[in-house]
Amino acid sequence: MKFGTKAIHAGVHPDPATGAIMTPIYQTSTYVQTSPGQNQGYEYSRTHNPTRSQLQDAVAALEGGKHGLAFASGMAVVDCIIKLLQPGDEVISTNDLYGGSYRIFTKVFAPLGIKFHFVPMHDMTAVREKVTDKTKLIWVETPTNPLLNIIDIEAAAEVAREAGALLVVDNTFSTPYLQTPLALGADIVMHSLTKYMGGHSDVVMGALVVNDDALLQRLAFLQNSCGGTPGPQDCFLVLRGLKTLHLRMQRHCENGRAVAEYLQAHPKVEKVFWPGFPEHPNHAVAAKQMRDFGGMISFVLKGDKQEDAIAVLEKLKLFTLAESLGGVESLSGHPATMTHASIPAEERRKAGLSDSLIRLSVGVEDIEDLLEDLGQAIG
Ligand SMILES: *Cc1c(COP(=O)(O)O)cnc(C)c1O
Repeated sequence: MKFGTKAIHAGVHPDPATGAIMTPIYQTSTYVQTSPGQNQGYEYSRTHNPTRSQLQDAVAALEGGKHGLAFASGMAVVDCIIKLLQPGDEVISTNDLYGGSYRIFTKVFAPLGIKFHFVPMHDMTAVREKVTDKTKLIWVETPTNPLLNIIDIEAAAEVAREAGALLVVDNTFSTPYLQTPLALGADIVMHSLTKYMGGHSDVVMGALVVNDDALLQRLAFLQNSCGGTPGPQDCFLVLRGLKTLHLRMQRHCENGRAVAEYLQAHPKVEKVFWPGFPEHPNHAVAAKQMRDFGGMISFVLKGDKQEDAIAVLEKLKLFTLAESLGGVESLSGHPATMTHASIPAEERRKAGLSDSLIRLSVGVEDIEDLLEDLGQAIG
């Protein structure tokens, strides 16, 4: 089955009780037992819920994996995955990382005795240098946020295999429409479903997909023990969003390309970060592992002044200034003061994240209107 067909049909089936074609919202916490322990596969909704099960199956199918688990947020997924580890274990992560992941690593799990190394992963030698016999996880996000660096997933999988570590890929920015990390050797692929997968900025949720049965069991045990599960209404909304994932992504990519080319040619723009440019340092890897280049773009203005960037952000009308990304509407953001404010200024600069950097999540509006908005804001 091709991707678009899967987006609409995979994992879901008509309701056996009524024939309802769309997955019902099973708004229930518990399930009747005919005799103690005798049930229809559902006991309590922290553990299993039929609306959630269909969403999990749909996400797993799109990622080309065996098992999916849905969570109350993307951060609940990160939390669950790191709980696979023990004090003394080490994680090697990209240094150009989602701010919330950086925060949970350094402020929640580092004090509990897990050690995190942050390295620029577009060069695997930096990763190999940090591998020790305590390395248990390698954490990849690609494209990275907000600098749109590309990490070679197959190369990272090889380093992980040699190290005896699990490879986790946060696939939030790409979605399985653009790349499927499990097929490239990842052990766990995770999502903030809040972004492109849900796609309509109306829900906060997360998910992970694995192939290994024992790994699924451990993660499901941790999830059920810790309780970061989503409600059925949110699962329904993401299921609805997934049905147009391929259509939305296609337009995000088309509009993303047009915006990147427009900004690149603009006399007031110093630099555009977008992996689709042939001169992007990791373009070849992007072209190898991705179907297209996505709708996330960052850029820096000539002069590199924070106040100029803020003036542009205040003038943008269609590119609404807001946290988050991946919705049908275009959004703009200032990573240094918004999404990445929890990363210390020195770390940000080391990662090459300038204080004047503007990040765009290019939506699926008509491109003429988007370019006009950018034109009036940049001047
Ligand atoms: C948003 C995001 C997260 C966290 O997800 P929430 O749903 O906001 O908890 C994790 N990783 C990436 C790349 C994200 O963009």
